[in-house]
Amino acid sequence: MPGFLVLDGIKGRCPDCGSGSLFSGFLKYATHCEVCSKDFQSEDAGDGPAVFVIFIAGFFIVPLALVFQLALDAPVWLTLLIWIPVILISSIVLLRPLRGIMLAMQLSRDSGEARLEDKDGSIEDKS
Ligand SMILES: [Zn+2]
Repeated sequence: MPGFLVLDGIKGRCPDCGSGSLFSGFLKYATHCEVCSKDFQSEDAGDGPAVFVIFIAGFFIVPLALVFQLALDAPVWLTLLIWIPVILISSIVLLRPLRGIMLAMQLSRDSGEARLEDKDGSIEDKS
């Protein structure tokens, strides 16, 4: 159901049946839904989720680290010791749900790879 796409993606659930898992590992996409057999290989989120992780984590963490460094006049080693794990953990925590959301949205819209379509409706494969 389209209204629940984001929720299905966050949970890593198939957008068609809402039961099967989108993932076969922590970040690896499954080839198909084990419940409804929907093919997941036709879509690929690529680097999109990582870009969103960079934007989201960077938007919140970099200012916090800067304030920490400047306001407390903390030594660089302490800043690195605290903020590198924060960056790593937040990136790992955000990546799986964002990968799920992007794949669920692509699957529900049957987005596929870009192709050129001729005027007669035939599809010309440029690969
Ligand atoms: Zn399914």
